[in-house]
Amino acid sequence: MSGRAGVESTTVSRTLADVPTDRTTSLGEACERPPGRLEGELREPQQLDPETAARRRRALARIRQYGDPILRSRATPVARFDNELRRQAQEMIELMRDALGIGLAAPQAGLSQRLLVYQIDEESEARVLVNPELVWHSEELEVAEEGCLSLPGVLLEVERPLAIRVVAQQLDGAAIELEASGLEARVIQHELDHLDGILILDRVPRDQRRAALRALREALERPAAGADVVLSSPAAASDSSSPRDQSSPVTASD
Ligand SMILES: [Zn+2]
Repeated sequence: MSGRAGVESTTVSRTLADVPTDRTTSLGEACERPPGRLEGELREPQQLDPETAARRRRALARIRQYGDPILRSRATPVARFDNELRRQAQEMIELMRDALGIGLAAPQAGLSQRLLVYQIDEESEARVLVNPELVWHSEELEVAEEGCLSLPGVLLEVERPLAIRVVAQQLDGAAIELEASGLEARVIQHELDHLDGILILDRVPRDQRRAALRALREALERPAAGADVVLSSPAAASDSSSPRDQSSPVTASD
């Protein structure tokens, strides 16, 4: 497992360097463990100070949750590279950071646009990909745990290609090509799925999906769901150390 040193891309992509990084929590020392969780990943959940926890709750309340039809829709390509797009990207970055996520796709923020942001750790910069397309992926697959900011209480072992190549545009419309592996590749694939209305529920075998849906229902029924649920209940704890024999996306119902 390559760990979180998510591989430098070969290209330079513009990032919003001016976004303040006021995050004080750390990614944690759990480096032994593959940091495979995606957006729902928390950086040291136990150590959230009240202010951070409150900020996270507010952020989660602004993120579309399971059941919202936008999460099942295919997002529209971005056509205008203007200030509004830049503003949206910046807002998404702030939302992702406040929610203590490491990636966010525009539909989760209520925008049906092919736009995603991610930041796999505190040391790296936030990146923005507009109209991203997967153009290559490795044959080699890897299973790792993923969470999702739109699926409170759900953690699933998801199998994905280890390395990918993506073409996309920057906020000014310039074309870029990006290679990634490990966690970075995983986050990008997770967010690319969101742009096509695919959730991690669709990427796991049926029995795990059922367990996840149960956990999800419980989480959503709880008042003030979201904030603490992802923190404290690694639901549907699947012990899949065994290799997956399927990976076909299924259009899950609810
Ligand atoms: Zn997600």
